[in-house]
Amino acid sequence: MSNLRFRALELALDREPMRVNPPSVKISDFFGNNVFNQDAMQKHLPREAYKAVMAAIDHGVQIDRTMADLVALGMKDWASSKGCSHYTHWFQPLTGLTAEKHDSFFEMSDGKAIEHFSGNALAQQEPDASSFPSGGIRNTFEARGYTAWDPSSPAFIMESNSGKTLCIPTIFVSYTGETLDYKAPLLKALHELDKAAVEVCQYFDKDITKVFATLGVEQEYFLVDTALHNSRPDLLITGRTLFGHSPAKGQQLEDHYFGSIPERVYSFMLDFETEAYKLGIPLKTRHNEVAPSQFECAPVFEEINLAVDHNALLMDLMDKVARRHHFKVLLHEKPYAGINGSGKHNNWSLSTNTGKNLLSPGSTPKSNMMFLTFFVNTIRAVFEHADLLRASIASASNDHRLGANEAPPAIMSIFLGRQLTNILNELEEMVPEKKMTADEKTALKLNIGKIPEILLDNTDRNRTSPFAFTGNKFEFRAVGSSANCSNAMMVLNSIVTNQLKNFKKEVDSLMEKGLKKDEAILKVLRQYIVESKAVRFEGNGYSDEWKKEAAKRGLSNIETTPTSLDAYVSKKSLKLFEDLDIFSHRELEARHEIMLETYSKKIQIEARVMGDLAVNHIIPAALKYQTILASNVESLTRIGMKQDVYAVQVEMLQEISEHVSTIKIKVGEMIEARKKANKLENQRDKAIAYCEKVKPFFDIIRYHADKLEMIVDDAGWPLAKYRELVIVR
Ligand code: ADP
Ligand code: MG
Repeated sequence: MSNLRFRALELALDREPMRVNPPSVKISDFFGNNVFNQDAMQKHLPREAYKAVMAAIDHGVQIDRTMADLVALGMKDWASSKGCSHYTHWFQPLTGLTAEKHDSFFEMSDGKAIEHFSGNALAQQEPDASSFPSGGIRNTFEARGYTAWDPSSPAFIMESNSGKTLCIPTIFVSYTGETLDYKAPLLKALHELDKAAVEVCQYFDKDITKVFATLGVEQEYFLVDTALHNSRPDLLITGRTLFGHSPAKGQQLEDHYFGSIPERVYSFMLDFETEAYKLGIPLKTRHNEVAPSQFECAPVFEEINLAVDHNALLMDLMDKVARRHHFKVLLHEKPYAGINGSGKHNNWSLSTNTGKNLLSPGSTPKSNMMFLTFFVNTIRAVFEHADLLRASIASASNDHRLGANEAPPAIMSIFLGRQLTNILNELEEMVPEKKMTADEKTALKLNIGKIPEILLDNTDRNRTSPFAFTGNKFEFRAVGSSANCSNAMMVLNSIVTNQLKNFKKEVDSLMEKGLKKDEAILKVLRQYIVESKAVRFEGNGYSDEWKKEAAKRGLSNIETTPTSLDAYVSKKSLKLFEDLDIFSHRELEARHEIMLETYSKKIQIEARVMGDLAVNHIIPAALKYQTILASNVESLTRIGMKQDVYAVQVEMLQEISEHVSTIKIKVGEMIEARKKANKLENQRDKAIAYCEKVKPFFDIIRYHADKLEMIVDDAGWPLAKYRELVIVR
């Protein structure tokens, strides 16, 4: 077979940008056209059914079966009018991908074909789910799981070349009621958050009766030509390159960031944005990222459940649309060594029914007190549950970012900016232990009243913090680009909820002891500010000094996934999730197992691909070139050349032999290490063995293979090189 790399290169070089024709230049003309949104519902549902859905969305009111029948009927009408023949429950199992099981509306009734969709079919489906991860919750005898409609996220239509499907967002649970997906726990956490936050808001504003979290997800990704992607088994199978010498020109010139977008990429972006708009995903920005062939898109923030669904949908959509443009979207956190990785910044805040952003300072001391309350409680929550937050973003692929000196480190710290740091410091000093005098109260009020104007010129930007306050929201930057961010958001909202509940208890108890409300609040906030000081860090998060400093402060820095996951099943976390009624012990332990197992499998697959590529692709190429060198030396000897004429060739022959034999030996040792790891019964032991005994071989084997890449004739090298992969034409 001819060299796949060169055939791929030829194809990639010949590509032309595809023409894309959005339905209209005005996005508002077609935005949400494929969503069963309020407009569509009003048109297609009877009044009482519409009201029932709205009550479910706004207040979590259950929809009864008669209503569900009416909703199903309207939904089917709408979907059929748009050309759908099938429907599916759309859910987010713990594989990290979205899942679908399509059913047709078509039914036989009295020997006649009809189109039918019942409330039952809308509300519940039983996918043959025994092959989704369940962490031992579902043994084969109870293999059934079911999906249940989530009316708070609207149904939508997925278009493909060969048809349209109505997708109904659902949760996924086992027959015995345990959650088996990402969405169900998030919904539970949001429900608890609403209750806890409203109670706290009531101290300040009686009109606030509902609080919901908001989320804006910045999604980073790489693009690579499909032909080149397919020519690299490592990219194809593991999502990242396991080999490849760094290119002569990487990102050192920093000329890619915000640079002009290549034509072919522009077409792709326009195309997937158009599809996203039809699905009601409010994409707002697009630009080049730091690394070559790296890009980012971000929507306008939305209610968090919807934002999470939209991000999951977007990842899927990007992948589908990219195929039309002969691109592969790489969502992996670290597709290329030595080149910046990708993250998924989660911009998070809290909003109320009155339209107030609780993390945005107001114009009066009272509203600023409310701001400070949520601000300080969030800090306190992150401080208290830093390990759990770290665990919430742990994965084999994200370890490449968190452990390395590029993305935020695995140490959870919070950046506030100079002005807010000062305000917290002042509060700490100004709120006395004893009762406050009138003067002290006035001074404090003035101080608190000052916040908004100060924040306006808060231009502090710290890109090295995993959790940064950015004026009116927190930005959780350590989330991995390929993650379903539901998990991180479920944890964040849970720890904040727990914190708000504790806050309420403490304030109430001080008030019972006779303190005025304001004084009680300030006193508790002051105490939190003092207690959680260690988690605040304004300096360079990438530096080695910070690692030392963090250790001194007692902050943990768990660089790899297997042990970081312990935080899920710590006493503290078990209690937290049980108190909030989000997970039982059994569910948490099952999840923990799944995550450990996923980790081991990922490393196992990488190790296999690595061994295969090294032994069956790279070594043969090196040996072939060595043979050419050897026959060259042989000919030169034969015609009587002196040794010094072919000294270099001899040296190269030697070098090749050394690299080849090291690779061969190390692959053998790696296989042995894998066998040992596989024998371990306990999932945690196994994951640790994969992490500590198998993974270290990757760097060694790669080092020697990359050296060979620099020696062997370019024409004989089997794998597309970095310079070919990262430059998008
Ligand atoms: P920056 O570029 O400074 O990080 P942007 O204004 O571009 O900030 O916002 C980044 C993301 O944060 C966007 O998705 C935006 O919609 C989102 N965002 C803005 N305000 C909020 C908020 N109150 N809650 C959640 N996300 C928000
Ligand atoms: Mg940002």
